[in-house]
Amino acid sequence: YLEPMARNLERSLALQKRAEALLPGGVDSPVRAFRAVGGEPPFVVRGAGAYLWDADGNRYLDYFGSWGPMVLGHAFPAVVEAIQQAAAKSASFGASTPAEGDLAELVVEAVPSIDKLRFVSSGTEATMSAIRVARAFTGRKYIIKFEGCYHGHSDGLLVKAGSGVATFGIPGSAGVPEEIAHYTLALPYNDIASVEAAFEAHRGEIACIILEPVVGNMGCVLPAGGYLETLRAITLREGALLIFDEVMTGFRVAHGGAQQRYGIVPDMTALGKIIGGGLPCGAFGGRAEIMNLLAPLGPVYQAGTLSGNPLAMAAGMATLQHLRQHKTEVYARLEALSAMVADGITAAAHEAGLPVVTNRVGAMFTWFFTEAPVTDFASAAASDTALFARFHHAMMEAGIWLPPSQFEAAFLSTAHTEADISATIEAARNAFAAIEVN
Ligand code: PMP
Repeated sequence: YLEPMARNLERSLALQKRAEALLPGGVDSPVRAFRAVGGEPPFVVRGAGAYLWDADGNRYLDYFGSWGPMVLGHAFPAVVEAIQQAAAKSASFGASTPAEGDLAELVVEAVPSIDKLRFVSSGTEATMSAIRVARAFTGRKYIIKFEGCYHGHSDGLLVKAGSGVATFGIPGSAGVPEEIAHYTLALPYNDIASVEAAFEAHRGEIACIILEPVVGNMGCVLPAGGYLETLRAITLREGALLIFDEVMTGFRVAHGGAQQRYGIVPDMTALGKIIGGGLPCGAFGGRAEIMNLLAPLGPVYQAGTLSGNPLAMAAGMATLQHLRQHKTEVYARLEALSAMVADGITAAAHEAGLPVVTNRVGAMFTWFFTEAPVTDFASAAASDTALFARFHHAMMEAGIWLPPSQFEAAFLSTAHTEADISATIEAARNAFAAIEVN
């Protein structure tokens, strides 16, 4: 169903061929391979603001922002300068640096649930380690996660996961022992009855509920009214911890993340993406009584050679300082521009007679090609992924790079302009007109 490429992708194709001989699938992270949408993944050589350039010189307007971190756009001058200055003083020490405290202060000030935190190098490590602490704190083994939520690729968290796991239709992962998956209870999102039933069946055995308070990894799915409040009440009643995975939503849907936007304070929070300004960085945090269980104070072991890396701290600092200083304008602008593009494309799809359901919270959104509201993984999975693939392909041809799967959220940055949004809507209008509906 894909038309031949109009763009010249000669160099990207050659680079892909070389990469396939060296890296499984030619990639270091599966969704980069464009398997869900078909077509060739361009090899990126440069970014500036809202734009990317590929190896053949094609320019794209970027709507995935490195999957979330680039909220200020690519090569943001203050971030570039901070990384250069830090690099000149050495890339790593493996000893404590002032930068860790500097960035920690900015995170603690912004995120309501965090009194103390530990830096790691990815979102995967952040959620994995938060769960270890939650198990130690409660002395319980089971965890609840939700179908279509993705919390990184650690063994216990791939059960019915979103993102690439959903994109490729893999029911978890090979190589994970059943005994480990056994302790993960995967329940439908936005369904309180199944949470109550799980606590009924495993009373006193559930350590925590972990969730994306706004989901990005089955496409964007919003918490139903009262959902987060009820999860908070149930976990308090049952003595289990509530963990918000704000790797995507932190510093994006509001300065203090989804917990600030919805006014719910979890026990622990996982962060990543934006807090590292595009460098490898994650963090997990919570109340001091919980976090003090970590070694060297307590019995929970967790460590990292490059944790709190000076370059990552510097890029994170430059990003979070800018967000703090320009909070009001930044989040108002992200909201307004995102509404404009989300609504504009919805209207264009409707004009073309295509079914589309648009979910959006702040600068995080998805157009699902389906009729019914999308509130959980089952309703997201009802989307017409072939139609999405054609839309994606047509947009790529027009120089608009959307996330290459129906089950991923799109992101917008402060570098996007009104003119960019108008061009995007115009491209979508043309794409929809060209798509034959059968
Ligand atoms: N949690 C969420 C909500 C995520 O979106 C992701 C990555 N997309 C992760 C965890 C894992 O983060 P990383 O890829 O940095 O390991």
